[in-house]
Amino acid sequence: MKQQSIWTGEINEKPCSELNKDIKCDVLIIGGGIAGISTALNLKETDNVVLIDKDKIGYGVTSHTTGKLTYLQGTVYTDIQKACDFNTAKKYLESQKDAIKIAVENIKKYNINCDLEKNDSYLFTTEEDKRLNSIRDFLSKTNTDFEDTKLPINIPCKDAIKVKDTYVFHPLKYIIGIKQIIKDKVKIYENTTVIDMDYKDNHYTIKTKNGHTITANKVIITIHYPFFIFPGLMPVKLELKRSYALSAKHQNETWNAINIDKEIYSIRFYKDNIIVGGFSHDLSDNIDYKKEENKLINFYNEHFINKPEKVWLTHDITSHDYLPIISRLNAKHPNLLVATAFNKWGMTNGILAGKILADLVNNIENKYETLFKLHRKISLEETKNFIKSNFKIGKTYIKTKLDKNKEFYNKTYITNIDGHPCGVYIDENGKKHITRNTCPHFKCSLIFNNAEKTWDCPCHGSRFDIDGNLIEGPSVFDIKMPPNKK
Ligand SMILES: Cc1cc2nc3c(=O)[nH]c(=O)nc-3n(C[C@H](O)[C@H](O)[C@H](O)COP(=O)(O)OP(=O)(O)OC[C@H]3O[C@@H](n4cnc5c(N)ncnc54)[C@H](O)[C@@H]3O)c2cc1C
Repeated sequence: MKQQSIWTGEINEKPCSELNKDIKCDVLIIGGGIAGISTALNLKETDNVVLIDKDKIGYGVTSHTTGKLTYLQGTVYTDIQKACDFNTAKKYLESQKDAIKIAVENIKKYNINCDLEKNDSYLFTTEEDKRLNSIRDFLSKTNTDFEDTKLPINIPCKDAIKVKDTYVFHPLKYIIGIKQIIKDKVKIYENTTVIDMDYKDNHYTIKTKNGHTITANKVIITIHYPFFIFPGLMPVKLELKRSYALSAKHQNETWNAINIDKEIYSIRFYKDNIIVGGFSHDLSDNIDYKKEENKLINFYNEHFINKPEKVWLTHDITSHDYLPIISRLNAKHPNLLVATAFNKWGMTNGILAGKILADLVNNIENKYETLFKLHRKISLEETKNFIKSNFKIGKTYIKTKLDKNKEFYNKTYITNIDGHPCGVYIDENGKKHITRNTCPHFKCSLIFNNAEKTWDCPCHGSRFDIDGNLIEGPSVFDIKMPPNKK
């Protein structure tokens, strides 16, 4: 089984060059996932817009998604109702329907070849979960058509509903399609990592890892986890969930599904493949990643015949009140904008973020501006979730610091070298790979991910390969050993 997302295998596309000089621009978009590229599309007629990404555009979380464009999003509406109120949940539903419309319009208008298919969305429960009735109630009250139904596949299901006007697509082909449309109007730099940002005399100075600066009047941060404007944003507002997905040969079908039970999994089809994803968990210091990945593989093997061909893991950011953040930073920084916390529904929310952020840049009123504002009313439910999540992160941080000389599995351990905690992995050929074991972001100690053979931060999700190269942030630095210590 290959450790690779089904979407990345299909694309062969030339990257744009990296930034190799200091530049000035009016609007800088940092991060070219679904949110960043959608913002760039909406700003393509605006002068002097630059988009940069630390890797290749589209290869972040977006290339690891299941690619559903649906508003039937698990228990999100009842969750929002609980954290906020009915009207907020109703407005969120409206926003998701609008996002689907925008996506379909873009694909048609620009003729983007991204395998868009109209696809019924099912929501089901294996445990007769009463919340499905509350969701029925909510959909009825908001005049949303749905059908009571059964799942069109033989996996456990006690109760299900479906809606019809939803879609699936190839998320990476969508992004690459947009990149082709905008690249003559928006200057794109890839392999360009931002490491810091300053604000002075009404403009922002952004520093890149290779030593260049970008001076911008307006900055839009769409890097998934906006750490450098707010190192503390994560603990206060956001939480990270890690999930797994796999693909295997299967006849194509025109529906997708997700359940609402304790162990959540989602199903869709792509050409002659089935994609099953889910089995999310929080980050923690004692996760056995292989065991977690096996939960998904075992579930799949119990219900399907063909062997899984690809398996991958990724994470997404959730907010404590279940609403994304798509917003100006604050009144002091009206020209610093951010989009994050899509709560595992970033295809719709990322596309919508593109429209809202572009409207904010151009001072055009957007009806969802208030709904997704960073500084919104904090509910009791949100406060409870925030306390729970911060307690967990604090505990994890302390535990990793106490666990010196930890052994993980087969040939992998943490030890002390010259007063520094270091991670040691011995490969199949007996070669030792030694790295520093402290995450440069918040100084948490790293744990070994035995599914993907990476060193992962159990507090905030940064990941590094066995030689200490950064795979994904919030850290922007590697954890390599100095050359004479390897
Ligand atoms: C298993 C799984 C399945 C999912 N399925 C669905 C689904 O079916 N439908 C749905 O709506 N949503 C789904 N989601 C959610 C969705 O995938 C995400 O919410 C969305 O992709 C996030 O997009 P983004 O643009 O915020 O982040 P990303 O796609 O990660 O983009 C951020 C970009 O910023 C760049 N970057 C990061 N740091 C820096 C830096 N310092 N300097 C420069 N660039 C930087 C990265 O390289 C990256 O390209 C799923 C999520 C998971 C985990």
